[in-house]
Amino acid sequence: MNVTKELLSLRPSDVITKTKLSIGSQLDVQSAEQVLIELVNEGILQMIFAVGCTNDEEQHVTFFEDAESFYKSQKDHCVYCDSKLDYKNVRVGFKRKL
Ligand SMILES: [Zn+2]
Repeated sequence: MNVTKELLSLRPSDVITKTKLSIGSQLDVQSAEQVLIELVNEGILQMIFAVGCTNDEEQHVTFFEDAESFYKSQKDHCVYCDSKLDYKNVRVGFKRKL
């Protein structure tokens, strides 16, 4: 199955998204997302969250390695410039759980 092949080629530091999996496996994006979420539930993948800051001049990205630290940190400011994090602009990715 293409999905398995795609996932086995992930290195521990790689981040995969539903779009990327969809392209690599010929699943539609929604099915790719379902597969990824199932793998999170099975403890094979973990979700990571990338949040941009609201700095107009230079945008920084803050990563959260799991859902718990992401939801707990909703009021946090950017560690690089202290502007607010832009939670409307969150990207979700997946990586292999170590
Ligand atoms: Zn910033």
